[in-house]
Amino acid sequence: FPPAPAALLQGLNPEQLAAVTLPAGHALILAGAGSGKTRVLTTRIAWLLSTGHATPGGILAVTFTNKAAKEMLTRLSAMLPINVRGMWIGTFHGLCNRMLRAHHKLAGLPQSFQILDTQDQLSAVKRLCKQFNVDEERFPPKQLAYFIAGCKEEGLRPRDVEVHDSDTRKKVELYQLYEEQCQREGVVDFGELMLRSFELLRDNDPVRVHYQRRFRHILVDEFQDTNRLQYAWLKQLAGDVVDGRLVTQGGVIAVGDDDQSIYAFRGARVGNMQDFVREFDVRHQIKLEQNYRSYSNILDSANALIAHNSRRLGKNLRTTQGPGEPVRVYEAPTDLAEAQWIVDEIRQLVREGPMPRSEIAVLYRSNAQSRVIESALFNASVPYRVYGGLRFFERAEIKHALAYLRLLENPHDDTSFMRVVNFPPRGIGARTLEQLQDAARGSGCSLHDAVSSVPGKAGANLGAFVAMVDVMREQTQGRNLRAIIGQVLESSGLLEHYRNEKEGADRLENLDELISAAESFVTQEGFGRDAVALPLDETGAALTQSPASQGLDPNRPLLQQPLVDTDTGETLSPLAAFLTHAALEAGDNQAQAGQDAVQLMTVHASKGLEFDCVFIGGMEEGLFPHENAMSDQGGLEEERRLMYVAITRARKRLYLSHAQTRLLHGQTRYNVRSRFFDELPEEALKWLTPRQQGFGSYAPDSRAASAYGAGARAGFGFNAAAFASPPVPPRKEEPAHGLRVGLAVFHTKFGEGKVLAIEGQGDDARAQVHFPRHGTKWLALSVAKLTVVE
Ligand code: ATP
Ligand code: MG
Repeated sequence: FPPAPAALLQGLNPEQLAAVTLPAGHALILAGAGSGKTRVLTTRIAWLLSTGHATPGGILAVTFTNKAAKEMLTRLSAMLPINVRGMWIGTFHGLCNRMLRAHHKLAGLPQSFQILDTQDQLSAVKRLCKQFNVDEERFPPKQLAYFIAGCKEEGLRPRDVEVHDSDTRKKVELYQLYEEQCQREGVVDFGELMLRSFELLRDNDPVRVHYQRRFRHILVDEFQDTNRLQYAWLKQLAGDVVDGRLVTQGGVIAVGDDDQSIYAFRGARVGNMQDFVREFDVRHQIKLEQNYRSYSNILDSANALIAHNSRRLGKNLRTTQGPGEPVRVYEAPTDLAEAQWIVDEIRQLVREGPMPRSEIAVLYRSNAQSRVIESALFNASVPYRVYGGLRFFERAEIKHALAYLRLLENPHDDTSFMRVVNFPPRGIGARTLEQLQDAARGSGCSLHDAVSSVPGKAGANLGAFVAMVDVMREQTQGRNLRAIIGQVLESSGLLEHYRNEKEGADRLENLDELISAAESFVTQEGFGRDAVALPLDETGAALTQSPASQGLDPNRPLLQQPLVDTDTGETLSPLAAFLTHAALEAGDNQAQAGQDAVQLMTVHASKGLEFDCVFIGGMEEGLFPHENAMSDQGGLEEERRLMYVAITRARKRLYLSHAQTRLLHGQTRYNVRSRFFDELPEEALKWLTPRQQGFGSYAPDSRAASAYGAGARAGFGFNAAAFASPPVPPRKEEPAHGLRVGLAVFHTKFGEGKVLAIEGQGDDARAQVHFPRHGTKWLALSVAKLTVVE
């Protein structure tokens, strides 16, 4: 073999070098975060290729995300002058998809088979249940879908499932029917991609032998997060079992870190590592102990934290980089203040740079937390990008909810109409919608107005939808934004729909978060703040900027400031203002492709990545560690591994923060600082706010802890009542305008009317007033001169 280019191996430490240049055979590389596992894998591929040990077609590498696969290909083409296109480097799902397309006939699929995502899968199960009149009380579709996915992850077809009771028998029967339905329609779900590909290999000797001969080098990153089926799939590719022994042709190199196993909830099995060593008769086990990523204050924090876990394979990590900056800890009074602090720090980092924004990451435990941070970044005009999940206002469930809200404001919004007319599903088919659209086109009216021209049952269904929205509009008259959104989520059936969905919990959280968003929009920010007024005034009076007395900030773009008709005081309804705010945030603030942007993502999505500066927000009991995971030891240890992953993403600077109060899922929570703070080495930390301030820390024997325990058992998070001295809510001032709901008032232009609702305080106070001759209007009270009619 020709020698490897010297540059390729330069700088590797002895253990890394050994791993990169291992002789053929199986190996396990078990090492902590930032020790160069991924780098070793990539360099190994380059080494195999450049020395002629392998051709590009002979290598199969599995990564955890598409992003990681792309990264690997980019690095490879930088190391070697080879064409990396066509190499089998990708995720398990990606590689299985590729294999099934190539052998679709043998696999019994049309070549153009469609892939169902989790949501599609649930709708398919629901359709099936309807068709076969399944008692959905007894067999909720969500649970059926979960059952089916679980069976597939274990590699079980309906005939393989052990049946001991009638319920299981029924479920297996439905699993069978579901399979037939998918087969008929030519679709496969995620689990099916894996299972079908596994069976293709298992049941077709020529195909299996072909791939076994071809892929002499199999490399697997993040091995600790593989599930049973994925492991079985790898075994098929590696070799055959003869006389109870696995006889393999090529070599499998698996790299992993048991401390970073964070997908147990999806069937990941750390035990695959031990099985691998035993079944593959692994000769080479290499440990990497030098961390190249982080300064020692960061690394010491990670090591000290993870030492609190009991079930570990045991590894050490050291760095030669010196202590670096201390880990900064900040306690904020509220989640908004926390977000503001993060943004201020980011701006300072960038200003004092050089620090590209793309080297700054903000990590959070649950998706719903991103909204407040997004909002603060938005207001500060800091470009950002959200990974591993959509930006808050672009998420499907949020868009559905907003579409209903838009229809309340404007029944003729056809885009919103189309989005939700059959969502949640109410039996309105594509044919009916075509008919409706034709009718609307024919008479040049909105879909809403064309409904009456669709005949028969289809027309009746459409009519029922329109009537439902009309009722919602009536029901929500005069109610506050929170109540409006709550009502719409319930009456539209959205909540019900997501409650029945396998992975709907996240979506429900986000919908709750929408209520929080509305709430803080109204009460904390003043609902007009980000609004753009529409030309609502039918007299045509120019809408002008509100007077300076309303606290306009000369540094903010005009579009983000409230506009009020200075003549009549007319302004947007809180709902319209909120919708505008939502549209703006969802619209053009997403950083442009290639633009230098701050990176936002969940901790789960950050696996394998690294950044110069990392912020971890929401370090509070119940949030991180998450309340759902704290009921058992295993759950808590998985949370700790998540925290370990989060900390070890940072190269130079790490910032941890928590908030005393947080508005989350529509509720204000009073928080106890995360127990993880007490597991970090004091000498590595710098407390920017006094350590004992606020509600004190989590301590196993403190009163707060027992209060927490009670709360957790009862299934709710922290609340003020759990503490001896809850914070005193700010005292409501007597409103100066002297109005209340129900009063009759007089407006100089619109005449007499009746107050339906009042929102906001001080200069931001607005009232919804119904004028018999002019309809219902929202008026800014500091501008509109309303007098009370005795
Ligand atoms: P994780 O567990 O987070 O996935 P990892 O073990 O895969 O981490 P890598 O991402 O491969 O670690 O490497 C971490 C960082 O250290 C990268 O920036 C990598 O380029 C660098 N690095 C790895 N080995 C060396 C080395 N021998 N010399 C200098 N830098 C190195
Ligand atoms: Mg890695």
